[in-house]
Amino acid sequence: MTTADKRRRVLLKLSGEAFGGGQLGVNPDIVSGIAREIAQAATDVEIAIVVGGGNFFRGAELSQRGMDRGRADYMGMLGTVMNSLALQDFLEQAGAETRVQSAIEMMQVAEPYIPLRAERHLEKGRIVIFGAGAGLPYFSTDTVAAQRALEITADVVLVAKNGVDGMYDDDPRTNPDARKIDQISHQEALKQNLKAVDSTALSLCMDNGMPMRIFGMEPAGNVTAALLGAEIGTLLG
Ligand code: UDP
Repeated sequence: MTTADKRRRVLLKLSGEAFGGGQLGVNPDIVSGIAREIAQAATDVEIAIVVGGGNFFRGAELSQRGMDRGRADYMGMLGTVMNSLALQDFLEQAGAETRVQSAIEMMQVAEPYIPLRAERHLEKGRIVIFGAGAGLPYFSTDTVAAQRALEITADVVLVAKNGVDGMYDDDPRTNPDARKIDQISHQEALKQNLKAVDSTALSLCMDNGMPMRIFGMEPAGNVTAALLGAEIGTLLG
């Protein structure tokens, strides 16, 4: 492949909440729908994915209810691995070739996280799913998405949201007058304390010049469109 026909490389962040459809666990109908949308774009774009785990556990929430924070965060990370395996299965059913890499070693279910190997997979047209977050408590999968995107030299981080279609100047669920923002700098989003992604992820992207697009998973077709470069939602950068 020459430099001229080098494909765009994107890092897609999917929230765990989307996988559960608002319930604990994985909803196979929802995950297969998401997988079909991703597979449709896989011939044109190199796709790496970070999946959240909010449909299983969030460490901060469990620690508020009495658990040790570090242990609770590891439970959250293990939840992301289950989501990664579910997504891998439905992506393969949709005809895509995939690999899961885990930040916590578990050789029977996933490759270890090896960034150079991940890049080779992407070059060969495989979709790479990064599970187990960063393998570190006190991190979120938004931050991992930013870090992985930087390390594998992705062109953009695409943050897929459910229930909201971009970044707003206030919370659209509580303020009906909140206005959607089409484009904003990372710095301004941080200054205004806008909430669509966490501040650690935002500052990592800001410090390293990584653009981020936040968009809604609905209506159907949006995930494919965003992967293929549609200018939907909010661009940070
Ligand atoms: N987590 C962690 N370190 C990481 C990534 C995730 O400790 O590097 C834990 C943390 O407890 C988090 C949970 O895994 O709450 C699930 O991830 P996240 O909340 O980011 O998932 P999402 O909200 O995107 O579904």
